[in-house]
Amino acid sequence: MQDKHPLRVLQEEIRACTRCEDAGYIPEARPLTAGDPAAPFMVIGQAPSRTAHETATFYRGPAGERLRSWFVEAGFTLEDFGTRVYLAAVTKCFPGRVPGSSTDRLPSRAEQALCRPWLDREVEMVRPAVIVLFGGLAIGTFLSRAPLKELVGKTFDRDGTTYIPLPHSSGASTWLNDPAHRALLAEGIGCLREARERIDRV
Ligand code: SF4
Repeated sequence: MQDKHPLRVLQEEIRACTRCEDAGYIPEARPLTAGDPAAPFMVIGQAPSRTAHETATFYRGPAGERLRSWFVEAGFTLEDFGTRVYLAAVTKCFPGRVPGSSTDRLPSRAEQALCRPWLDREVEMVRPAVIVLFGGLAIGTFLSRAPLKELVGKTFDRDGTTYIPLPHSSGASTWLNDPAHRALLAEGIGCLREARERIDRV
């Protein structure tokens, strides 16, 4: 029998993780991870949404669907999502809502620290050529805490990896209400298209 790829073993370990539930940060750990070992692209977002949690499918719900549509605009197929586009997040479980609100809670620093080793190991094993940072938390964690308008619409090359920052598309964010910001998003999608074309040529 063929040995399982080390990434598949890691994904099984991740799916069995209950660190944040054990620490009392979340009521139910249901970690999400999806993607192939040779995926040239990786998305790193904030955390799974309630819809993603309930359907056990990463990047579902309004924000996830919008992100998928941006990838389609950049020439990807929906089948690429979770295969050649590796799906990851700063924390891998739904963090719950802000009390009294329909907005998802930002994972605490403690939760981020508990989950970070999983993400670091995924990045190390997959070694994606392009990482799309989806939203302020992922952008601040991996790239810069500068305002989004200074980052979206550009690519950043670090240690052989191309980073493409995109704004979060949840209804809770008003950033995309500004036409100038939507123009930056269009440039960001253009960066993603160029990166895909470059990689597809190889
Ligand atoms: S968020 Fe990360 S560290 Fe916390 S339980 Fe889920 S997988 Fe484990």
